[in-house]
Amino acid sequence: MAAPPDALGPPETLIACPECDALYRAADVPHGERATCARCHTVLISPRRHAGMAIIALALAALILVLGALWFPFLRIDARGLWQEATLWDVATSFAGGPLLVVSVAVTAAIVVVPLLRAMLILYTLVPVVFDRPPAAQATRAFRWSERLRPWSMAEIFAIGCAVSLVKIADLAQVSLGPAFWMFAGLVVVTVAQDALVDRWSVWRSISRT
Ligand SMILES: [Zn+2]
Repeated sequence: MAAPPDALGPPETLIACPECDALYRAADVPHGERATCARCHTVLISPRRHAGMAIIALALAALILVLGALWFPFLRIDARGLWQEATLWDVATSFAGGPLLVVSVAVTAAIVVVPLLRAMLILYTLVPVVFDRPPAAQATRAFRWSERLRPWSMAEIFAIGCAVSLVKIADLAQVSLGPAFWMFAGLVVVTVAQDALVDRWSVWRSISRT
């Protein structure tokens, strides 16, 4: 049950449940254990040893996968002896200049720019902290943006959309998926793993300690 902040102590020691807004006084949680919300069971604090290194590795993997997915062929269509290969870059720039320019800019942002930006913001925030250096000058701003961009990273929706439309045109032509499709599938897994590993409370506490 939430109590008035005065009863809980100074505001910097408080933690609010992101799901139901219940307010708690944060305590030091031992590594490997987790603190959950008593009302809705959302995980509030879950410090893990070596998680920082794993998150950095996953962010680097996400960077490589997004850049690779841009340049490798995404799919290949065969029909009556003719074939055509398309990369994501081709798809994103095919509308350039036309009335669908806005659509192509939005799609490129959601599937390429946002995941790329989030990986870079997380590296900027966490690399100094994990290597026991003082936090980067704009670390709090960078981490806040990385959290804000989280709902806008839509690589998985793009991958599912492509799979659905490929099933539909499979009757008309032979469609094969290129390396970029599998890189996107990998990106989805990497993003989920990374979001599960990031203990927001620990990150905030380590970067706001100046
Ligand atoms: Zn809750």
